[in-house]
Amino acid sequence: MIVLKSKQEVTDIASASKIVAECLILLKQYVRAGMTTMDLDAFVEKEVEIRGGKPAFKGYRGFPANLCVSINREVVHGVPSRHRVIMDGDIVSMDLGVIYNNFYGDAAVTVAIGDVPEETKRLIRITEESLYRGIERAHVRGRVSDISHAIQTHVEDAGYSVVTSYVGHGIGRALHEEPEVPNFGPPGLGPILREGMVLAIEPMVNIGKGDISVLDDKWTVVTSDGSLSAHFEHTVAITENGPQILTKI
Ligand code: MG
Repeated sequence: MIVLKSKQEVTDIASASKIVAECLILLKQYVRAGMTTMDLDAFVEKEVEIRGGKPAFKGYRGFPANLCVSINREVVHGVPSRHRVIMDGDIVSMDLGVIYNNFYGDAAVTVAIGDVPEETKRLIRITEESLYRGIERAHVRGRVSDISHAIQTHVEDAGYSVVTSYVGHGIGRALHEEPEVPNFGPPGLGPILREGMVLAIEPMVNIGKGDISVLDDKWTVVTSDGSLSAHFEHTVAITENGPQILTKI
C-alpha cells in the first residue's frame, strides 16, 4: 500500500531530510585520504545527534553502523570499519538515513578522494545526472517507471550499467515503503504518481556490467566484475508544483 502524506507529514519528512542533507555536506568536507570508514561513521553519528535526530540505519535489519560507506567496486551497504583506510584515488559513496520526530529522510552522495582518472569523474557525474533525470520525471499523473526509464536511459547512453538488484523506495514513517522505484524499465508502468507520495530515488551505476555480489559480511554489495560503482540518492516529494527535493539545501 502506498501511503500518501499530508502537507504536515511532508514537512516532517523534510525536517528529517534536512538533517540528512546537512550531515552529507559536512561529510563531503570532512572525508579525506588516511581516515578510516569508521571515522566517518563516528563523525556523522555526532552530527546527527547534535541536530536532534537518530541515525536510521543502525540496527535496521541488524545493520551495525550509522552510515553506509561503499568504496570503489562496492555498490551500497558498505559497513564502516576501523581497519578500512580511505586512499587517495578512491571513490567513496556515503548513504545516510535519519529519523526525526518519527519521520525518515534518506540520501547518498559519491565523492572522489584526491586525484582520480577522468573516466572515474565521468562515472560520478553521469550517476548524479541520472538521479536528476529521474527526479525531473517525478511529477503528478506520471508513472513510477517514467523515473526508472529516465535514469536507465541516461546511464546506458553513457555506456554504463544500472544495478537492478536494488531499488529506490517510498519513505515516510518507515524507511522503506511502497512503491519500489527501480532504476530500469520501460516508461508508463507502475503506480501513478500523486501529490503526497514521497520517494527515495537512488541510482546505483557501474562502469562495467550491472551484476552484483554480496560479500561474506552479508552486507557489502560489490560489482561482480570488479568495476567501479557510484550511488546518489535524494528524498523527493511529489507535489502539484513539481518534484520537491527534501534532502537538498
Ligand atoms: Mg534509500
